[in-house]
Amino acid sequence: MDYSVIAKPDISQLKAHPNLDDYAGARASFQWDSIRKELDGLPGGGLNLAYEAVDRHLKTARRTKTALIWEGKNGEEERYTFEQMAQQSNRFANVLTGLGIQKGDRVFIFAERFPELYFAVFGTLKRGAVIGPLFSAFGPDPVKDRLEDSGAKVLITTPDLRERVKDILPQLPELKHIVIMNKNGRFKDALQPGDLNFEDLMAKASDQFQIEATQETDYSIMHYTSGTTGKPKGAVHCHRAVLGHYATGKWALDLQDQDIYWCTADPGWVTGTSYGISAPWTNGATQLIYEGGFSANRWYSLIDKYKVTVWYTAPTAIRLLMKAGEAAVKRHDVSSLRHICSVGEPLNPEAVVWGTRVFDQAIHDNWWQTETGHILVANYPAMDVRPGSMGRPIPGVEVAIVNVETGETLPPGTDGDLAVKPPWPGMFQGYWRNEAMYNSKFKNGWYITGDRAHMDADGYFWFVGRTDDVINTAGHLVGPFEVESALIEHPAVAEAGVIGKPDPIAMEVVKAFVSLKDGYEPSEQLRQELMRFARKKLAAAVAPREIDFLPSLPKTRSGKIMRRLLKARELGLPEGDTSTLEED
Ligand code: AMP
Repeated sequence: MDYSVIAKPDISQLKAHPNLDDYAGARASFQWDSIRKELDGLPGGGLNLAYEAVDRHLKTARRTKTALIWEGKNGEEERYTFEQMAQQSNRFANVLTGLGIQKGDRVFIFAERFPELYFAVFGTLKRGAVIGPLFSAFGPDPVKDRLEDSGAKVLITTPDLRERVKDILPQLPELKHIVIMNKNGRFKDALQPGDLNFEDLMAKASDQFQIEATQETDYSIMHYTSGTTGKPKGAVHCHRAVLGHYATGKWALDLQDQDIYWCTADPGWVTGTSYGISAPWTNGATQLIYEGGFSANRWYSLIDKYKVTVWYTAPTAIRLLMKAGEAAVKRHDVSSLRHICSVGEPLNPEAVVWGTRVFDQAIHDNWWQTETGHILVANYPAMDVRPGSMGRPIPGVEVAIVNVETGETLPPGTDGDLAVKPPWPGMFQGYWRNEAMYNSKFKNGWYITGDRAHMDADGYFWFVGRTDDVINTAGHLVGPFEVESALIEHPAVAEAGVIGKPDPIAMEVVKAFVSLKDGYEPSEQLRQELMRFARKKLAAAVAPREIDFLPSLPKTRSGKIMRRLLKARELGLPEGDTSTLEED
């Protein structure tokens, strides 16, 4: 099959006229000021993401419009208007004030997707504090690393997740308050001594609140992201990022007033905040939030039941849907869908083409990362799609393939470092307490993304791979160091080296190699025990899927484990330069 191009649709035949109908024109003349003017700004001056997403709509007919439709794991349904979102988030902002939380303090949330999570996020932003959402599948180690590094003062969580991480909580001296949400009283005996009751606090709080007069560069959201070395780093964003969320929600997701939008990402990852919170609501769309995880049947039935029009998901999910087969789609009416987007990993050309067959439209890939804050490269509804390509840069931002050493841009067709010309609205403002690492990402006038790619002669970008050892498993970046650190805490493990092993569904799975301490012998039982150990500490998504025993791990003469060599050996590839390899 020829994957080379899926011609843009006839605009007059589309269910909605695309927001971005003239890509070339927009790129030529665009100024960010025009987007700033489409937003309101705080009545007394300043800019606040929560105000732009929620409260500004109260002056319009959207006041009584449904902002959030929630479907719980057990089929419960709740709906909230923009006005109710404003009131509930005001309540939570008042709760934080009552707890002594000040502008700039860090408030973390570790919970499943409940409506209350969204109230808490907006309430925190209204208070002027910084929200740090945590992936609800995390185990104690990643939660501890993030709370400790950020110096979080408040943790909002649920009884089951609190129980999962209970041992690390006393080890966090800066953590002053644990607020427990007990959705519809699901849990009996939910509170531990010293815990605060979310529902009680909310019931007692006023639904009026004067939003903190945050400025564009004040911090808003932080997400931890993994690198090759060391613990994950806290990428901090500011309220100005809302310009980028709003604009790309318009252009790449094509969000419009009448849309029912569904983003399948968890708010613990950046897609779940920029596009699961900010972009849809700043654009005034109705958003479906589904508490549960992946299930082909359930997902199609949600699209059918709520008549989802715009859908933002990820390649691993799409590959799983492909595996579930076309018969699974046909059991439902998914004809409401008018625009489908994907992010997080390379989207295979077959998946894009599969979309044209089963959903009658191409799946639109786009590219960005935690540090960029919002989509920077995308396929737009009114543009030809080249299956396998991430698309073209958004208006107002320069993206290029560069030579890192010189800062020169490379000619079309040449692989190089994917780089972005600073600044842009969603650009991260720093890594928390790690200025040196932040500065190291900017070279010769470019922000260096850590991805390799090339651009074709028409300005479409094509992903090649990462420039580092970071593993991308089902769209989640995993730092090998985090997994290695967890494994070597097991009494049997002397050394651990972790790589990403190619996988047809998840793109990569985490694979670990361990050598054992004297007195321990490799066995299937020990392998299983190590898997369980890592899963309990980390999260199923982060823990190794495979563990191999080796007598010793290949290391450089300075003692660094050579993951590159482990990977080459695993995949039967050439070992490359081994001149720094330590002799046994
Ligand atoms: P994160 O910061 O966790 O959102 O991960 C960002 C990384 O995911 C990028 O630097 C890429 O390596 C990868 N990624 C995101 N979107 C795409 C895409 N459309 N195609 C290929 N890789 C992607």
